[in-house]
Amino acid sequence: MKQSMTFIPTLREVPADAEVKSHQLMLRAGFTRQNTSGVYSYLPLAHKVLKKIEQIVREEMNNAGASELLMPALQQAELWQESGRWYSYGPELMRLKDRHNREFALGATHEEMITSLVRDEIKSYKRLPLSLYQIQTKFRDEKRPRFGVLRGREFIMKDAYSFHATHESLDEVYVKMFTAYQNIFSRCGLDFRAVIADSGAMGGTDTHEFMVLSDIGEDTIAYSDTSQYAANIEMAPVNATYEKSTEEQKELVKIETPDQKTIEEISTFLNVSKESCIKSVLFNVDDKFVLVLVRGDHEVNDIKVKNLFGASVVDLATAEETIKALNCVPGFIGPINVSEDVEVVADHAISSVVNGVCGANQAQYHFQGVNIERDAKITRFADLRFIQEGDKSPDGEGTIRFAKGIEVGHVFKLGTRYSESMNATFLDENGRTQPMIMGCYGIGVSRTLAAIIEQHHDENGIVWPGSVAPFQIHVIPVNIKNDSQKDLAEKLYTQFTQNGYEVLFDDRAERVGVKFADSDLIGLPVRVTVGKRADEGIVEVKIRKTGESFEVSVDELHEKMK
Ligand code: ATP
Ligand code: MG
Ligand code: MG
Ligand code: MG
Repeated sequence: MKQSMTFIPTLREVPADAEVKSHQLMLRAGFTRQNTSGVYSYLPLAHKVLKKIEQIVREEMNNAGASELLMPALQQAELWQESGRWYSYGPELMRLKDRHNREFALGATHEEMITSLVRDEIKSYKRLPLSLYQIQTKFRDEKRPRFGVLRGREFIMKDAYSFHATHESLDEVYVKMFTAYQNIFSRCGLDFRAVIADSGAMGGTDTHEFMVLSDIGEDTIAYSDTSQYAANIEMAPVNATYEKSTEEQKELVKIETPDQKTIEEISTFLNVSKESCIKSVLFNVDDKFVLVLVRGDHEVNDIKVKNLFGASVVDLATAEETIKALNCVPGFIGPINVSEDVEVVADHAISSVVNGVCGANQAQYHFQGVNIERDAKITRFADLRFIQEGDKSPDGEGTIRFAKGIEVGHVFKLGTRYSESMNATFLDENGRTQPMIMGCYGIGVSRTLAAIIEQHHDENGIVWPGSVAPFQIHVIPVNIKNDSQKDLAEKLYTQFTQNGYEVLFDDRAERVGVKFADSDLIGLPVRVTVGKRADEGIVEVKIRKTGESFEVSVDELHEKMK
């Protein structure tokens, strides 16, 4: 590609509002431009990288047995109403009306769409398992779009869904997808970890996030220095000792055991508004659990608190009031459902409550997948201590370290969360009707692009790993007005291209300093400079990553590059 004919608007200055390196570099190197908050254009260079990432994703997904399709981004409200997420997803779901006043959502994710598609066509266990994926634009009205395309409101996601007759079958595909994800992120040149995650608004149980290690990551990972153990800190357990409950504490807590409650029902039950009902935490690891509901004043999104509600509810006003009511200081919190010799586990969300800052997201994400069976009992902790660096890893092997991570991928075992609510059933071998068992698997394609830059840059610009570089070679004539330089550069451009390389040819009439600065910013793996010795057929080769440079004859270069 000739640089004079394409669109690479580079900037010398660091844009003032770009906080993180990848965002700065994507603007400076002419990869993206923001249209409005969280909405970006991908200019030709970024588009090329996206296509490369997508190709890697496609190869690995196909290899894992998934077939590509493309579903609508525009989705009728009825689908989301069936699953219940129309009411629970909250303001992150972009909603709109058509000319007939019918309601729609722009796809934030596609569980509903794919479940409806598959349920209408697949009726027998003989057609299962089935894995499908798409690469498509997603819409989420993020509260805080930031860090450029790392957290956009419109972004590109690969989302895959699998349908199964048995849990064993789901387990098998989950492993395949997990492996595919490891391959994808390795091939993208990323230093990442797969961590135990929280099932969040999607429902389901078994789930892992793929985290790119980076100081700007919004998640904290607790990992073992010697074993495979790695968890989102939200899921990392912690030991605590506790004291028994007192009578007056009991009075402060309302306890009931309703089954299968929705947030609406809970708010009615607690006689508080839906919005102020849930601000809280709960917890379950290996049958050990804590549940605390603390009233707050934030918006409530996705709370289908089904599993929870075989259990008990505590209404404890705000975190501050909780702490006051339980007569404890920060660092103490009152849980229920803890039998006397239970080792209590807690997480980040509890620490948030303790610190009085528990947010809606934190809270809502802790209601799923919890199995609370015991009688409620009010207890008070002493010495609640969260997992810390230097602690022994929960698997008993190695020592805990912390790192920050950017979530680039997420795999879930959804189970029957969507098939049950949306009635996606099949006939099993014995002719019995069963809900399909599902998995879902997401990758932030546009976020991955930025995450790669976050891990691959230096003070002069981006340093692309070969696998995803927009072009492999940058050919730069020092002076395009010099005929022998121009001719040799053009010849190299043609020959490299013919040999299957992707080449960016800086044919602009710019000063060489400008060209080199742009070239460093753009960060292609190899630069070939055609300068003074063009007459002799000698050029300079520079390796972007190492800075190593050497002179070489054109013949030798062709030899090397065969
Ligand atoms: P986050 O915790 O960062 O908000 P998420 O857990 O809400 O992400 P998922 O629902 O798991 O995201 O979606 C699958 C993938 O889509 C994520 O792992 C991430 O890579 C990507 N993704 C999610 N939200 C965004 C966004 N706003 N901008 C860019 N990529 C995103
Ligand atoms: Mg999110
Ligand atoms: Mg997440
Ligand atoms: Mg996620």
